[in-house]
Amino acid sequence: PPYGQSPPWYPTPKGGIAASWADSYAKASKMVSKMTLAEKVNVTTGTGWEMGLAVGTNAPAIHVGFPQLQLQDGPLGIRFADNITAFPAGITVGATWNRQLMYARGKAHAIEARQKGINVLLGPCVGPLGRMPAGGRNWEGFGADPYLQGIAGAETVKGIQSEGVMATIKHFVANEQEHFRQPWEWGLPHAISSNIDDRTLHELYAWPFGDAVKAGVASVMCSYNQVNNSYACGNSKLLNGILKDELGFQGFVMSDWLAQHSGVGTALAGLDMTMPGDGLGWADGKSLWGPELSRAVLNGSVPLERLNDMVTRIVAAWYQLGQDDEKKFPRKQPNFSSWTDEEKGVMSPGSPTEQEQVVVNQFVNVQANHSVIAREVAAEGTVLLKNEDLLPISRQGLSDERLRARRDAVERATGKRSEGKFKVGIFGEDAGPGNGPNACKDRGCNQGTLGSGWGSGAVEFPYLVSPVEALRKQFDKSKVELSEFLDNKASFGKGDGSLNDLELCIVFANADAGEGFTKWADVSGDRPDLRLQNNGDDLIVKVASSCGGGTGDVVVVIHAVGPVLVEDWIDTPNVKALLFANLPGQESGNALAEILFGDTNPSGHLPFTIGRTLEDYGAGGKVLYLPNGVVPQQDFKEGLYIDYRHFDKYNIEPRFEFGFGLSYTTFKFDNIVVIPQRRKTQYPLRRPNPAAEPPSYSTDIPSKEEAIFPPEIRRLEKYVYPYLDSTDDIEVGQYPYPDGYDQQPPLSEAGGDEGGNPDLWSNYVVVNVDVINDGPVAGAAVPQLYLQYPETESETDFPVRVLRGFDKVHLKPGEKKTVKFNLTRRDLSYWDVVAQNWVMVTEGPYEFSVGLSSRDLSISGTW
Ligand code: BGC
Ligand code: BGC
Repeated sequence: PPYGQSPPWYPTPKGGIAASWADSYAKASKMVSKMTLAEKVNVTTGTGWEMGLAVGTNAPAIHVGFPQLQLQDGPLGIRFADNITAFPAGITVGATWNRQLMYARGKAHAIEARQKGINVLLGPCVGPLGRMPAGGRNWEGFGADPYLQGIAGAETVKGIQSEGVMATIKHFVANEQEHFRQPWEWGLPHAISSNIDDRTLHELYAWPFGDAVKAGVASVMCSYNQVNNSYACGNSKLLNGILKDELGFQGFVMSDWLAQHSGVGTALAGLDMTMPGDGLGWADGKSLWGPELSRAVLNGSVPLERLNDMVTRIVAAWYQLGQDDEKKFPRKQPNFSSWTDEEKGVMSPGSPTEQEQVVVNQFVNVQANHSVIAREVAAEGTVLLKNEDLLPISRQGLSDERLRARRDAVERATGKRSEGKFKVGIFGEDAGPGNGPNACKDRGCNQGTLGSGWGSGAVEFPYLVSPVEALRKQFDKSKVELSEFLDNKASFGKGDGSLNDLELCIVFANADAGEGFTKWADVSGDRPDLRLQNNGDDLIVKVASSCGGGTGDVVVVIHAVGPVLVEDWIDTPNVKALLFANLPGQESGNALAEILFGDTNPSGHLPFTIGRTLEDYGAGGKVLYLPNGVVPQQDFKEGLYIDYRHFDKYNIEPRFEFGFGLSYTTFKFDNIVVIPQRRKTQYPLRRPNPAAEPPSYSTDIPSKEEAIFPPEIRRLEKYVYPYLDSTDDIEVGQYPYPDGYDQQPPLSEAGGDEGGNPDLWSNYVVVNVDVINDGPVAGAAVPQLYLQYPETESETDFPVRVLRGFDKVHLKPGEKKTVKFNLTRRDLSYWDVVAQNWVMVTEGPYEFSVGLSSRDLSISGTW
């Protein structure tokens, strides 16, 4: 197709071809075959915004025993709920580079979901990928690289689903910016179109979704935006072609909230569930499905087969996760309400119909000991970016010896000597509690210490340990004198002498962003630039120049939703240390103290590049802030070259490169061994035949009676029902189907099973490397493997290097461990747009480089 256009892909591949889902499909087919038309429609359609206690609820199929499903945000905790854990955000998880923690956080999150009565968690988020460093929701995901997103997303999915809760991988796909993500928030007739070529879509944006599908994810949320000028939730190429055929997705596709823009069109394009159920406005009771889907099936404009497949996919996912087990998933409403904090309320506050007050909040505490995981993630997700012999300090400040040496040096330089306690100052609004962590709705403002970004991906903090609170508690007052300056506009400054006594200054600053439905200051979801907010840069510069009259040591701590520019102060000589703490969640201060005091050796690494300017990220790194057409067009013309791929290709020196992070110890590598497992061949093995047959059902159009409003139901105004008042006007006829509907493209050779062609997931080569802790203390290394494609005669252009492996290894001083990287066929391939397949390069050697960041690669081997 021409650039920016999406080709047709019809009809929707039916679920039920994978061995891994065969039992669940068999059970589902029995149940679905007994459902009436209205029950089937119920399962596919939300009941409307604020029509249940969760942010999304569909309706049950009572006669066959299929319950109402409860869907709740979001990726870092249970949104709108009490007594839950506010985990660190995705970006912090990405910064840990620790698979076990990714899994553990997902598992703990799901335990809380289940105990609150939730069936489906609306996370994890792997899209946005982070094409634009200022993109508003990048922090919900795990970092600006598809491999890292893919592993982190898949581990999170496995963790969540190990507890029987359905995970939702979102947002499919290319919702890279908040501006114009959908029409109504921006006063536009249409959402933005992300225009992406086929190879880039495969190798970057769809890649992590492939990992999630391979991990067995139950549900995929399609995004608000258009992709190649077709709405993501109605894009047949994306949903039918890529997701369901090529990636072999066996679960169900749900729409983002109001991301559905057509009824019949989305059904044919592969959407399986519409959320929240209302179609074009919040709580307006008008659905594009619901009664309209009943009508469309009765008149033949949506094939009954398609409805059956939608419902079968949803019911199969429910069986697949074991949710038919009533002991684990009692058929009850959630024990909290998203819409009120009071104990009593109504079940459907979105409806104007008068309702009985019932207990809606039971205040069930589900936190268990999850603060431990939250804290571990926060600590391991803290990245030490600069350290000139300053950190760690101790709770007593500096050791007697270090303190004496420091005071001697200052005395030599200034003729003055401080005496007594070690004098520490803590600076910045971001160090303190502000007006409390929940001061603004959906966390939609930047005040106090920053623990998460804002929007549906945020939660109500049960508590937030601010840095100053933790430091106050933990510094030994008999040795350390602490002063606090928590106002960024404070009037200390150069030359006024008020900070002359300080010997160590810890200064905090931040940058916030979030979902486009809320704006704070000049941040309309996406950040307007990469600067620190609330005067953060000025504050740091001022503190550096005044701390100890310019002789004090400065530690900068940053909380941020993504990269920030550090150029104003990073080279200032007394700015000796920089900790990038990302978004740490409720355990913020405790985690930071662990790192400052050296209880935990920092082991976080950057999940994105920190450039010197926004321009350094290239043209593709810029948010489109002004609409450039009726359908704003955003061309992803940079192709594969985002984040470090861009910096490497154009030889731009970043300030801190992707993958970078320091430790209190040092590591070295030795002894790289490349062990081929299979022969290099250009193409994967042939697409396998389906392991199972999708269920088949009667094709007789159901009786119109099945869709008539049952008189015994008490109707709530604005609530979405599957029923019609009259079916008299329904005529079965020949309705036009989309162009290309009857020309099914060939099935993809990259497909054939859940996650795609199984050969793509076979290991083709193993790389072993020894990593040694050759420094003074125990610590965890993050060995990263980057692959360089062979140089070929062909025109195929390859990034300088791409991440294809990482691990986290804990080592005592002097200890050595061997790290093993498995590279799959997919890892070694590129997407060939002509062959429409993943292709391995057979001539010339692949090079594997291993090191501690994308630009610190000390050892390499070839295959
Ligand atoms: C967000 C989704 C979220 C949904 C439900 C949408 O606005 O984009 O990420 O899951 O709302 O709250
Ligand atoms: C809701 C969110 C939703 C958003 C979508 C907000 O009013 O609170 O849940 O994701 O609207 O725009």
